[in-house]
Parts: sequence; C-alpha cells; structure tokens
Amino acid sequence: ADVDMFRERMAEKSLPENVQERFEDEIEKFQVLEQGSPEYGTTRNYLDWLTQMPWGQHSQDKLDLKEARRVLNRDHDGLDDIKDRILEFLAEGTFKGEISGSILLLVGPPGVGKTSIGKSVASALGREFYRFSLGGMRDEAEIKGHRRTYIGAMPGKFVQALKEVGTNNPVIMLDEIDKIGNSFMGDPASALLESLDPEQNSEFLDHYLDLRIDLSKVLFICTANQLDTIPQALLDRMDTIRLSGYITDEKVDIAKHHLLPKLLKRAGLKKKQLDITDGAIRQVVEGYAREAGVRNLEKQLHKIVRKGIVRMVESEEAEQSPIRVGVKDLPDYLGQPWFRKEKALRGVGVVTGLAWTAMGGATMGVEASRIHSQNRGFTLTGQLGDVMKESASIAHSFVSSHLKQYKGDPEFFDQSYIHLHVPEGATPKDGPSAGVTMATALLSLARNEAPHRTLAMTGELTLTGQVLAVGGIREKVIAARRQKINTLILPEANRGDYEELPDYLKEGMEVHFAKEYTDVYRVCF
Ligand code: ATP
Ligand code: MG
Repeated sequence: ADVDMFRERMAEKSLPENVQERFEDEIEKFQVLEQGSPEYGTTRNYLDWLTQMPWGQHSQDKLDLKEARRVLNRDHDGLDDIKDRILEFLAEGTFKGEISGSILLLVGPPGVGKTSIGKSVASALGREFYRFSLGGMRDEAEIKGHRRTYIGAMPGKFVQALKEVGTNNPVIMLDEIDKIGNSFMGDPASALLESLDPEQNSEFLDHYLDLRIDLSKVLFICTANQLDTIPQALLDRMDTIRLSGYITDEKVDIAKHHLLPKLLKRAGLKKKQLDITDGAIRQVVEGYAREAGVRNLEKQLHKIVRKGIVRMVESEEAEQSPIRVGVKDLPDYLGQPWFRKEKALRGVGVVTGLAWTAMGGATMGVEASRIHSQNRGFTLTGQLGDVMKESASIAHSFVSSHLKQYKGDPEFFDQSYIHLHVPEGATPKDGPSAGVTMATALLSLARNEAPHRTLAMTGELTLTGQVLAVGGIREKVIAARRQKINTLILPEANRGDYEELPDYLKEGMEVHFAKEYTDVYRVCF
C-alpha cells in the first residue's frame, strides 16, 4: 500500500531525470525489504521525504507593483524608503519576468518590522513563506542534512522548507544571519553560500536526499541586527536594506493602526469595549517603550488589554460597560513609567553622547568626576571596548594639553585623579564615536561649568582636535528625537548623511557641524 501511495504522490509531479531514477531504485529496494527490518524503516522514511518534495511545482508570481505597494502599505505604517527599495527590487523582477538570483538582507534593531516586511513581500508576490532562525544553529547538518546512514537522520532546513510549503519557489526567510558564529560545526559561510548564492544553488546538495536540488527559484530574505558579524563572502552577495527604528509619532501610528487592533482582535474585543486614548498611547510610547523597535510597545499594550479584560470581567456593572484607559490610568496598568520626561543629562562633567549598537541608536550619558587631587590619574568604567578606551585616553590627553585655549585652569589635570564613566555598565559599548562627548565632559569638569545648553553629540576626536566622521547618523538622530533632544553636534564630514535624511527626521532639529574640537567648544561653553 505504501508503494502505491508513493507512486501516486509522484504521479502528479514532473520529476527531473535523476530524481525519477532514484525513485525507481528505492522503490525496487523497498519492495524486497522485509517489513520490520531496520532498513525497511529508513527506506520508507526516505521515500516519504522524496515523494513529498515539490518536484516541478511552483506558484505563479504576481508581478503587479500596484498590488505590491498596496500590500506593503496595508501592513506597515511609515518605512517609506524601505517600501521604495522593496518596490524597486520587485520592479527589476517584473522587468526580467521573474524574481530570481538575488538575496535581500534586512538589517536593523529588534522589532522594527523586518520579519513583517518579509511576509508582505511573499504575500505581494503570491508566494509561500517559510522562516527559520540561524541563531543557535550549531551544526552544518541542520542546513545540509545528515547522511541517511545516521540514526535519526533528517534532511536539512531547506528541504524541510520546500516540503512544508509545497512549492519550489517560496520566500524563505533566514533570521539572525548575524548570529551564525564560530560555534558552528563546519564552515557556516560556505554552507550558506552553497544554498543562497545564485551561482551555486541550482545544484544544492542535501546529504539526506543525496540529490541535487534546485534552490534558484527561491527568494531568500535574510534578517540581522548588525552587519559586523556576517561573513563577508555572504554580505557581498546580498542587497542590504537598512531599517533604523521609529520616532515617537511613527510608533503612535503603528500602535493605533496595527498593534492595538491586532491585540484586541486576538482577545475577542471590539474597539469600543476597550478604548485607549491617543494621549495614553503616546504616554506608553514615551514613558514605557522608548527602544528603536515596537516589540516592547506591543508587550505593554498587551498588558493593558489583559488587565482591561480582568477589570471588565470583575466589574459589578452591566457587562457591556466599556473600559477607557487614559494617561492617568497608566500607572494602574503598567506601574510607574520607566522613562521620565527629562531630556539630555546636563551638569558639571556630564554630557550626552549618541551611540549606535545592534539595538539601534541610543543616547548615552558620559560622566567625568574628580576623585581626589593628590596626583594625576585616570580611570575608566562602563564596559568599554578597546577602541572606546583609546578614545577616552585621546580625549584626556587632548583636553589636558589644550586647557589654556579652552579657558580652563591649565594645571587642573596635573593634580586630578579623574574617573570617567559611561553608565549602563551592563551594555558593552565600543567604537570611536564618543570621542568629542568624553572630551566635553572632561572640559566641563576642568572649567567647573556645565555645558550651556541641552544637547547631544557624536564624533571621533583625534589627538590634534580634528573631528572625524562616524557611523549610524540616522539611528542617532532618531534616538535623539525619541529623547526629545533637538540640538545636536555632528561631525562636518557627516553633513551629507544628515542632509540626506527625510524631512520628518530633520524637522525642528538644530544641528551644528564640527570640523575640529573648537567648533564643539563654541556651541557648548
Ligand atoms: P526581530 O529582529 O526581533 O526579529 P523584526 O524586525 O523582525 O524583529 P517584526 O517581528 O517584523 O520585527 O515586528 C514586530 C511587530 O511589530 C510585528 O507585530 C510587526 O507587525 C509590528 N510592526 C513593526 N513595524 C511595523 C510597521 N512599520 N507598521 C506596522 N506594524 C509594524
Ligand atoms: Mg524578526
């Protein structure tokens, strides 16, 4: 009966010659095997996989750009430039008549919509969608399968994906491609290249099936939080699209149009039964969920919905009485806000910098303090990486040797044991971009004077006081906006990056560009 079932499955498919041959061989073998023998089981298992693969079965692409735009807009607020990039990508495919031969990489902090964009692309194309994570994957066999002789052998993820979706041209999303690391057995980059690279993947070899499989019709979309840890050979073959995180207004829109309706629907509630005011939504964003993405925002809203339901159920009054959640009610639902309204930190020796990590942009206070005045000295804390430690020494040397020019007591550092700290010690930080911030904190300490205005800055500082370009300008501007800081100092060399930003990010910002430290000094003191 099994044999009939296998034959039936294969009848509907158009088999490549090698598959046809293999199938006949295995069936022949299978028929003479004794039921209950170990080999019977493994052969049956093999045939089961082989016959469930979507040989020659694919879905017809809907190459309709208008429709694609509609789907992307339906599922996402904001992200205009990302949508444009995706549409350009699809347009290219439309022109060629098929989407093939490219790998998209969506990179950005957690919860900014990477997975969600990927799903929309699949849905716009009318393709099946399959997603798996490379994070925590430790064995090449998870990608390429185990040889059949292994006990409990399984095909690799790509074969599993094709079987699951039933077509040979799905969208396959590989999450966390930046987390695939050295703990991996075998060579991750080459295993992945073999499957993703359009030059190689029409002949992808799965060890379990022991057949060459054509993956060239698959559209691969990878996601990552950062580029640094992605093997270069892979990176070279991908089209990178960067998602940088949301400002408050965007998050409020996303909450209203997407997150909340989804949560209410899941809870079986109507909008009028649980009414969270616009003001309250804004306060949730500002007081409880200030990170780059919206995942934590979703969590907080979920909490409100859950507690709202409890209240509804417990209320004495008629069942129908709707619950209204305003700004004043939030502490009841979520506790005290984690973030207060305060803007940038400012005080003697305290300056706000702008940082950029895999979690998105962030503001980062830098504190300098004089521990005692017995001797000259310098100590650093806050989990700083090597490059950042170097910037700190540069800042210290630069400020010590330029005190006269910047109106501080020229002897101040000769008799000062200085401690420089970058709070949130639990987050590792690195890179040279805090140079000007650290120098300003030290100068402020030496002058015993807080910077004159509330602002945030970023820029690499050289020993001679030049201010050099840094990365992540967009992420940093977004982070500053989220903290309601609207005066920034950026390196002159990043002027172009800043000017390229969309208007809604630049609106209301006062930006000073610094070529050398004196430019920073003039704005601050
Ligand atoms: P991670 O790196 O953690 O995988 P991600 O970038 O893949 O994060 P998603 O899972 O796509 O994030 O997004 C988190 C949630 O926020 C989803 O419910 C998604 O639909 C929603 N979301 C994110 N961005 C938007 C947006 N621009 N419009 C509407 N909803 C959004
Ligand atoms: Mg994701």
